[in-house]
Amino acid sequence: MKYNLAIVGFGGMGSYHFSSIREQLPEINVVGVYDIREERRNAAKEQGLKAYDSLEELEQDGTIDIVLVATPNNFHKDLSIRMLRSGKNVVCEKPVTMNAAELEEIIAVMTETGKHFSVHQNRRWDKDFVIMKKIVDESLLGRPYVIESRVQGSKRVLAGWRGYKINGGGMVLDWGIHLLDQIMWMIKAPVVEVHADLFQLYSTEVDDNCRLLVNFENGVSALIEVSTNCFINQARWHMQCSDGTVVINGWDCSGKMVKLADDRDLGWTDEIVYTEAGPTRTMAPRPRETTSELPLPEVETHWSDFYRNFIAVIEHRAEPAVKVSESLRVMKVIDLLFQSAEEGHSIRCNL
Ligand code: NAD
Repeated sequence: MKYNLAIVGFGGMGSYHFSSIREQLPEINVVGVYDIREERRNAAKEQGLKAYDSLEELEQDGTIDIVLVATPNNFHKDLSIRMLRSGKNVVCEKPVTMNAAELEEIIAVMTETGKHFSVHQNRRWDKDFVIMKKIVDESLLGRPYVIESRVQGSKRVLAGWRGYKINGGGMVLDWGIHLLDQIMWMIKAPVVEVHADLFQLYSTEVDDNCRLLVNFENGVSALIEVSTNCFINQARWHMQCSDGTVVINGWDCSGKMVKLADDRDLGWTDEIVYTEAGPTRTMAPRPRETTSELPLPEVETHWSDFYRNFIAVIEHRAEPAVKVSESLRVMKVIDLLFQSAEEGHSIRCNL
């Protein structure tokens, strides 16, 4: 069966879904677009798509099976609810809503209508993340305890609506949510403490840089940093585990794992080493033969699996790859991170 999909919000991301679906998903037929801007409706027509003149027209189109909501964040809740009520299954862009309470409203309508609703957390399929998840899932370096996840740019720009609070702008809701969703999906333990430092270096309304600390009950401490004002980038991922360390430099997925070769008491640990900054025992380099350097594990990942899973759920063949319960948990942590930044202290929780 071929599924008909319509897009609400045909901007950067709506267009990306359209071209990617056309290239990679023969089982989905992108039929039409509704956008409040005429210019974008015309752009849709130029690409051979139907342009709905109103949202009502789309609501009444009984041939549409799936609607993608890809508008600025503050419209996600109302649009998703309207689309679910008109009998459509809904894929919603991230951040799913402005806060957890809004998502709870959508979940109530999802239950009432029996339609499928899922959030496009596409970065669960990013190669760098899939490598990290494999290292954690298969305990390739033992037990993780410190995870650092960063995306860093220096353009000092929050494009369009991303600079406005009313639209749900700012880096926590833009990139922070991706990185948080990845880590909360990877670490299977409750979040017990959060702390957020939000920066406004050039934006007058929203966070343009952020630093988020999320601690888990199993002892894992995760640091998430999103920068738009960083001129010397750090690694995309750096993770310390009981038996080794992994670094992934960037989206190109260059990097390595260094693993303890053995646990033997080698007798060298007490030696004092005289460095340029003075003597040290603790920070003296370890003999090379006591570690091994390994390549990052090979993985295969396809973004299109998000939609393949969405269809499999509609056909009752699979569990959702991105469950609303997971999205709600992430939004609850986001709410607490904003509270932490506003109140200026860490917040204990059990999420
Ligand atoms: P954009 O500004 O490029 O496009 C938004 C479009 O929505 C515009 O064409 C605008 O006219 C239209 N629009 C605004 N209000 C509307 C309404 N009420 N009804 C119908 N159309 C409306 O923004 P974007 O970069 O495409 O971001 C859209 C969404 O996609 C955001 O939620 C953003 O967070 C998300 N996004 C996700 C990723 C990802 O990797 N998953 C990447 C970029 C953006």
